[in-house]
Amino acid sequence: MNPIILDGKKVAQSIKNELRVEVERLKEAEITPKLATILVGDDEASKTYVQMKANTCHKLGMESERVFLPEETTTEELLNVIKQLNEDASVHGILLQHPVPSHIDERKAFDTIALEKDVDGVTAHGFGATTFQLGAYPCCTPAAILQIIDHYNLSIEGKHAVVVGRSPILGKPVSMMLLNRNATVTISHSKTENLPEVISQADIIIAAVGRPKFIKGEWLKEGAIVLDAGYNPGNIGDCDYETCYPKSSAITPVPGGVGPVTISMLLKHTVEAAKTQRASVVLN
Ligand code: NAP
Repeated sequence: MNPIILDGKKVAQSIKNELRVEVERLKEAEITPKLATILVGDDEASKTYVQMKANTCHKLGMESERVFLPEETTTEELLNVIKQLNEDASVHGILLQHPVPSHIDERKAFDTIALEKDVDGVTAHGFGATTFQLGAYPCCTPAAILQIIDHYNLSIEGKHAVVVGRSPILGKPVSMMLLNRNATVTISHSKTENLPEVISQADIIIAAVGRPKFIKGEWLKEGAIVLDAGYNPGNIGDCDYETCYPKSSAITPVPGGVGPVTISMLLKHTVEAAKTQRASVVLN
């Protein structure tokens, strides 16, 4: 049987359809969900990502505020901008575009974002709360991976998931989220010995390596589910699609897999944040 192609565009569309209705409903209650994005410096790829996020906001009837800061911005200046956005009741979600210039203390900047506005799931507090299932917004790419799994009704309970990568925005949070869904999780990284052998034991592979075509089909168990979060120059995933496709039972393409769902999850979190923040104002 041919593998199922896990179509991220389709998943993203179904989220956006729901969000459009939700945003209309919120507007009737005079709330327009608003995402603020902060970009420090002139990185062209980051500019494109920020623009894409703003465009998608507008298409869904949401508002976006884009803050552009020069390359030479200091950590202190960036923290002040974040604090102002934390205080601004019209802003429901804050995204600091990663990476920031190397002279900035990125962790400090992320952790200055108020937890209730951390719609990108980048704060240490958000990571802990996600891990303990305390209701924070998870990182968007891990959330997108889980969303695809759920959209296609793929079973994860009791399955062996091997996550390749352990970054704070991807490998680590997705591992915790899979664990919370009762998968048996192995986290692998650049120091893992005999990675092909580890991967060969996986029912589910999460590729979060940042190396084009790194994971080979010959490493996979027959019928494994492959979710490729990789996005390398030239729109190339972390898995070698040509060889992984025939061995898998379901696989995300690159492009058109995890990527489109990630932006939708960011907007979904922003809409949820708008609802929650409104409710807390009413209660107070
Ligand atoms: P990252 O911070 O560079 O982390 C890469 C991880 O891969 C690290 O944990 C590293 O291990 C591990 N690794 C590197 N070489 C390895 C090897 N030879 N064997 C095993 N593990 C190895 O990257 P990231 O930000 O997590 O991103 C990963 C990929 O996802 C990239 O392709 C990125 O473009 C993509 N991405 C996609 C989206 C989306 O929306 N689709 C969002 C974010 C990122 P160590 O910890 O030992 O160094």
